[in-house]
Amino acid sequence: MFRATKIGATLGPASATAEVVGQMVRAGLNFARLNFSHGTLESHHALAALLRQLAHEQGEPLALVVDVRGGKIRLGLLPPAGVTVNTGDIITFNTAAVDYQDGEIPLDWPGLPGQLKAGERILLDDGRVEVRVSRLTPERIFAEVSEGGTLASRKGLNFPDSALKLPALQPSDEAALRFAVAVQAEYVALSFITSAREVEAARQTLRRLGAGQQELPALMAKIERGEAVRNIEEIVAAADAIMVARGDLGLELPEEQVPLLQKKLIAVARAAGKPVVVATQLLDSMQLHRRPTRAEVSDVANAVIDHSDALLLTNETATGAYPAEAVATMAEIITTTEASPYDDTVLSTVPKTNVSTEKAVSELSRLLAEEVGAKLILAASISGETGRLISQVRPPLPILVATETEHVARQLNLSWGVKSFVILPCASIEELISRSLLYIKQHQLAAVGDKMIIVAGEPVGQAGNVNLVEVREIR
Ligand code: PGA
Ligand code: MN
Repeated sequence: MFRATKIGATLGPASATAEVVGQMVRAGLNFARLNFSHGTLESHHALAALLRQLAHEQGEPLALVVDVRGGKIRLGLLPPAGVTVNTGDIITFNTAAVDYQDGEIPLDWPGLPGQLKAGERILLDDGRVEVRVSRLTPERIFAEVSEGGTLASRKGLNFPDSALKLPALQPSDEAALRFAVAVQAEYVALSFITSAREVEAARQTLRRLGAGQQELPALMAKIERGEAVRNIEEIVAAADAIMVARGDLGLELPEEQVPLLQKKLIAVARAAGKPVVVATQLLDSMQLHRRPTRAEVSDVANAVIDHSDALLLTNETATGAYPAEAVATMAEIITTTEASPYDDTVLSTVPKTNVSTEKAVSELSRLLAEEVGAKLILAASISGETGRLISQVRPPLPILVATETEHVARQLNLSWGVKSFVILPCASIEELISRSLLYIKQHQLAAVGDKMIIVAGEPVGQAGNVNLVEVREIR
């Protein structure tokens, strides 16, 4: 059955082989995230090559998302057994050290003590350990443990009480951006950004690194700080997509706000026609078990009902025991939920003014499709923008997008309802339709006698000139 909401997976040690990734693609994977907070440049290169190869073999426009670490503060290297801290202890973080020495915990962020105040909380390891700052020196943070536990190397820290001013991109992130340009990633995900200015700065860096290259990654802003939530309108305007990064968001802000923020962030992104990905803990218990909890099943279904474009698995597929099962489970929940009326949207029929031709044509394609009972919408889109505009109005039928490059086809694999494919450049709309019909029939997406809606522009082969919507019967 056709599934509109897309599925992404974070790759890691549990999903680093052709066999496992192949299983995940067969189970319905649409895009994969390489997380530069973990792994080595070599391991990322190997995974990128594997993804490109599998995309070819399986005919799936699998998109590659390179996630750059950004301003996430992490612990340095700790002994293999970790370091246990007990409630009531006073512990020391040393921001000048890279490994554990003299009982001091290394924290690779020079200058951090100057931005903190005594009394502020620091959360470690997903909030499992909590400490409170008691004293600061230029290089050290002394803190009292209020919730003890065992710390391991490279675990993340969150500062819910502090107003940190950190550059969104670190010097070390340039390697990740260079990699993203080299492998022609479809998206770069920017961790911990707080403003449109930071998104623009990342875009400039990508342009500089990819000078002369046509197909640069699009930018996905990860919303995981309170300041990003406050600046959501400008960030959505500057970025190409957003991620509701619930893991860190629920540590930086009170966790009970996460369900409401999810709805709000999705609404803002969708109003702007930008894809929105909901991430983290969607099927968390599947790291260890073959079946998810009922609460997780509900969470996935509700993310669909909230109108996410895509859902992203994180630890389930990076380090869990059942990566392919997690993708298959997610696909089941999504298709079942989409078959219900609960995720449906109503097309606004209130006439608007000064709408762009592309947008008006996109809305009309849904209206026409529903009124004539079409089986699919077929859109020609050079840049992918028309595909996203049609996706934005959520037509309850497949949106087939014919485009000219793998890069654009793959980029569209994060957009709700879009099934993208590559065709050779066409000289006329008739040629476009006949080439697309080959694909449609080959994939049994429609049959002779079915109606389809065509969205295109004349002359064909130019970006941004969509001006035509038409009903056709397949012959
Ligand atoms: P991360 O982002 O997995 O890179 O931390 C997702 C999140 O914070 O939810
Ligand atoms: Mn995060």
